[in-house]
Amino acid sequence: MPSRSRWLRIPKLRTSFLRGLRFRLTLSYVLLFGVLLIAVGMLFQKTLRLQMDDESRATLEEEWGAAKGYLHVEGGRPVWIADATDPEEAYIVERLRHVYILADSNGKVLEHSQTYDSIGVDSPQEIARILNLPQPEIHVRRDADGIPYMIKAGSIHGDKGRLYFFALGRSIYNNERTVDNFMRRYFLLLPGMIFITGLLGWALAGRAIRPLNLVAATAQEITGANLSLSIPRRNANDELDNLIDSFNRMTLRLSHSFDQIRQFSTDVSHELRTPLTAIRGQLEVALFTAETPDQFRDAMVNALEDVEKLSSIVRALLLLSQAESGQLVLQKTPLDLGEVVADVVDQFQIPADEKNVKLTATLDPGWLTNADRTQVERMISNLLSNAVKYTPRGGRVHVRVCRDQEDGWIRLEVEDTGVGIPAENLPHIFDRFYRVRNAQTHYTQGLGLGLSFVAWIVSAHDGTIHVESKPGAGTRFEIRLPAVMAAQETHPQPVATTT
Ligand code: ADP
Repeated sequence: MPSRSRWLRIPKLRTSFLRGLRFRLTLSYVLLFGVLLIAVGMLFQKTLRLQMDDESRATLEEEWGAAKGYLHVEGGRPVWIADATDPEEAYIVERLRHVYILADSNGKVLEHSQTYDSIGVDSPQEIARILNLPQPEIHVRRDADGIPYMIKAGSIHGDKGRLYFFALGRSIYNNERTVDNFMRRYFLLLPGMIFITGLLGWALAGRAIRPLNLVAATAQEITGANLSLSIPRRNANDELDNLIDSFNRMTLRLSHSFDQIRQFSTDVSHELRTPLTAIRGQLEVALFTAETPDQFRDAMVNALEDVEKLSSIVRALLLLSQAESGQLVLQKTPLDLGEVVADVVDQFQIPADEKNVKLTATLDPGWLTNADRTQVERMISNLLSNAVKYTPRGGRVHVRVCRDQEDGWIRLEVEDTGVGIPAENLPHIFDRFYRVRNAQTHYTQGLGLGLSFVAWIVSAHDGTIHVESKPGAGTRFEIRLPAVMAAQETHPQPVATTT
């Protein structure tokens, strides 16, 4: 776990406040919570209102039943039958009569309370409509002052079986006031709640993007000199840990590349210095000690050889940079691979003999591939030169060109009984400037460019390259190139060329 002080050391990075991730995250929280709180408030208001109206409706139903018990219509006149000696009953009847109306079936009002007058007496048409309904109807109406009343209107039977219009109401003003009060308080508290959400969001967003700032700050601190710097994981195994892992892997790769480039600079300086020192020595000999034309001539011939060596190093570097930047244009023509390989093998006989390495070849001539002759020769030369270079005296190098029976591609194999390549170095040998450094190859000269150039040539010809090696036993390179129509119709007979 990273220590606290590690977190606190993060330098502040300059980003525009309004466009910063922290501000935008907080704004999203605030907007989301704002909308959510408003929606919850509205829902609450509606539920509370429905609940209170339901309770009022239930009470009204009870009062309606009670009123029908107390009210009788006799001879076209309403009579409220209540026990005059029971004050409670008298009070109930008084309360029931607070909002009520009684009318005959023609719409003629027989009696109504004063409050009902303010609500508005029902028209004869309305009375006729309600009398025709199978069930009484409940609706809400407001009086002249805007006070809401829940009214239940229906029919009541009088004497002689006559039907009368009867409506009873009760104020639901308290319901409305309670809900309004609740909403007023809720909306007064809302800005405060949103503000607290904002503060919380700000803190949370800050916490969430802290590791991002750490990544950015570390990235800023990284230079070519401290590429080993890595960001500590949080062990949360989340997206940020993935980002941190990717970042650390990237710095590792960069560090690896920088190491290679550094190593390359050292190798190039070394490679260039050796012939330069030799040239300088030969020129000094010529200047201070040579007396005869022959001595001058020898010194200059030697110097020229070293100049040639220098040129070849510079050429190799130039060529690789041209190849990798796409400036090298290939002149592809159908090429008999066996024939090209035979030529290059011939050129390597002398160096191989000098080193007492037996160089042999088995070549199937006549298999054509569409390729650039110069580059293919360079590819074979690099493989053969490595094979001879890394094979100790008395060893063997064998080259083979044949056609793969399965897919018809042309196969080129270069196999040696040399020092081999340790398994851990194998994945890197095609990298630019990569050289295996161990006791066997320590004194062998090279820039680590040959195989990266071989790999580039193979891929530029749409081929594949494969290597297998056993330290102390030898190495085998296998290149496969796409074949074009063979020069001969029938398969050629293998020709074993052993030199
Ligand atoms: P170099 O100029 O060092 O030979 P290359 O790119 O040609 O550069 O090869 C990269 C490395 O691969 C060499 O340094 C050598 O260690 C290893 N290597 C290449 N070919 C062989 C081989 N035939 N046998 C053993 N090691 C090899």
